Amino acid sequence: MDIAANIAIIRERIAAACVRAGRDPASVTLMAVSKFQPPEAVSAALDAGITGFGESRVQEAKVKIPLCPSRACWQMIGHLQSNKCRDAVALFNLIQSVDSLALAQELNKQCEKAAKTMPILLEVNVAGEASKFGYAPTRVLAEFAELSKLPRLEVHGLMTIAPYTPTAERVRSVFRALRELRGECEQILGAPLPQLSMGMSGDFEIAIEEGSTLVRIGTALFGERPRKAQGEEGA
Ligand SMILES: *Cc1c(COP(=O)(O)O)cnc(C)c1O
Repeated sequence: MDIAANIAIIRERIAAACVRAGRDPASVTLMAVSKFQPPEAVSAALDAGITGFGESRVQEAKVKIPLCPSRACWQMIGHLQSNKCRDAVALFNLIQSVDSLALAQELNKQCEKAAKTMPILLEVNVAGEASKFGYAPTRVLAEFAELSKLPRLEVHGLMTIAPYTPTAERVRSVFRALRELRGECEQILGAPLPQLSMGMSGDFEIAIEEGSTLVRIGTALFGERPRKAQGEEGA
């Protein structure tokens, strides 16, 4: 598995999508999703110029992060439970998966205790899929004003995972809906929300055409994920 070569190919595809969309390639950040990948894979991606890594489970991140070079920046992209907020605040530079006011309040409390400020994204379940976590779009709008007032959190934007479907137009409509929702949140806030985290290995080009500023790439960068995290026992 040549991680540097994969990254070069992904960067070319990002650049081509930006040309189609009339965007500057520098406006799209490539984040490596390192869940289930060993520290050696993280090191190889760092050497190839990646700085941001996404992890989906606090337990795994807690074991892996100390084994990786300290110049890596870590973001939480998976569902976060309240009882893991304290660890999450200690481990991550940004949390992309905030999906309720109660969770935001608990993160705010833990940030207060740790004397930290945490940038966050709100995860939105745009298509209302039962299998996914994330805010319903109407609820984001209802809670946005209160969320944005939490003193230890900084809302930087929105995140979504598109439905797993070969129908490109369905995927595109989800990304477009997230961009429009960001516009409505900006109205409530009265300020810009710079980040739209959308696009994974199978759909990042469509996401860029629809305004993504941060693509989260696992498989296309590292290859197929191992079936379980390193050092994990059982299933
Ligand atoms: C696993 C994961 C990804 C990466 O998926 P790939 O299809 O392997 O690129 C991106 N975002 C989230 C939230 C994930 O859980």
